[in-house]
Amino acid sequence: MSQAAALDFPTLTFATVCMAGFLGAFLLINWVQQRDIAALAWWGSAYLIGAAAISLWSAPDQLFNVPAVYAEALIFVACGMFWNGLRLFHGREMRLSFSVAGAGGWLVLTQWPGLEEGSPHRVALGIVIVAIYTFFMAFELGRERRRSLYSRKAAVAVPLLHASIFLMPLGLRAWYPDVFATRWQIVFAIETMIYTVGTAIIVLLMVKDRHVHFYRKAATTDHLTGLLNRGAFLDAARRMHKTQSARSEPVTLLMFDLDKFKSINDRFGHAVGDSALKIFARVLQESTRGSDIVGRLGGEEFVAMVPEAMDDACIVAERLRVNFQDAGVVIDHAAVGATVSSGLATTYRSEATIDSLLLRADEALYRAKNGGRNRFEAAEEEPGSEASRVRWLERNKRADGRIGRFAARRGPQPATAS
Ligand code: GH3
Ligand code: MG
Ligand code: MG
Repeated sequence: MSQAAALDFPTLTFATVCMAGFLGAFLLINWVQQRDIAALAWWGSAYLIGAAAISLWSAPDQLFNVPAVYAEALIFVACGMFWNGLRLFHGREMRLSFSVAGAGGWLVLTQWPGLEEGSPHRVALGIVIVAIYTFFMAFELGRERRRSLYSRKAAVAVPLLHASIFLMPLGLRAWYPDVFATRWQIVFAIETMIYTVGTAIIVLLMVKDRHVHFYRKAATTDHLTGLLNRGAFLDAARRMHKTQSARSEPVTLLMFDLDKFKSINDRFGHAVGDSALKIFARVLQESTRGSDIVGRLGGEEFVAMVPEAMDDACIVAERLRVNFQDAGVVIDHAAVGATVSSGLATTYRSEATIDSLLLRADEALYRAKNGGRNRFEAAEEEPGSEASRVRWLERNKRADGRIGRFAARRGPQPATAS
């Protein structure tokens, strides 16, 4: 390598300052534009402070006349602020004291004899402080368990690598006492430059990830109740049907319609009507398992899909009917007495469609309404599926009791329903 092209420490430091300054401004602009993620302000400020600190530290003394010890302390403040930004982003309590502890410790300890400027122990102390903050950053990134679109392992590896490279010369000093005076400085500078860019990429990916989750959730959620909306429910139901039929297992669709809901709106007002919908949504969630799918089809119509045959689904329908009857007695201090009717349809066939299940469940629901409301009805068995149902029952070694109970359910409504 020619002398002109050789990497020298001041050039690398200057490049790092420019990059950190640019990335800091970029993160801050992102914060100003979006305002929904305050951590961006912390990260952007940390980068700008870091850039300022490195320029003060590396500039010729006569330029700014700031003692190096303050510039170094500022670098630790930047590390602490960045770490706090990660905590804020993940909804954890901020720890400002820890953010400035490194800088405070540095200002105090460097007064000690043996830690004066130029001493290897002083360099070692600085390295340890940076490494501690970096390990804490890796910890904050690593303990996040939510699913993300980017590789969390890679996000943790970046600060871990940085801390390790920073700490390496401390270990090497046992063999090379003058390691700090060698070209390690260049390795440090290059690595810090890569780390500066890498960390900014990580936080920007985290922000993008959050936005994608936000919009995805908004597109699949019913605003009033927080349940899945029609489209998202149908997608999830198709997936459940596919998984179940691949194992030759049935699914049952339950369609719910609140009784005389128009009259609730008319008598008590739209706000009470909305409360009734929210209460039903809560009961629906609380009366089903996490593995069941529940959603709002629209208006006062709700839907659930359970990976069960008709008998077990009837138990779910009855539990929901009773629970909503109890929860709907008084709504917003008004004696509403809200109830729900439902229709159930089961399929054992992989060729069945969710639309056909909805149609059959709707017919059963119609019968429940005509039968007096506050009750459920099971749809007729789909044509041609008896053989699959019997095979399933035999496989489950519960055939006798099940067939008997299923037949009973299809007759008049149980005594519990009014
Ligand atoms: P049935 O027992 O036969 O189901 O009678 P119903 O009155 O419940 O049925 P209908 O379909 O006649 O009325 C549904 C009502 O639901 C009409 C509509 O104004 C009301 N509705 C639809 N969406 C909402 C909503 O988001 N909030 C409120 N408060 N009411 C809604
Ligand atoms: Mg309706
Ligand atoms: Mg209704």
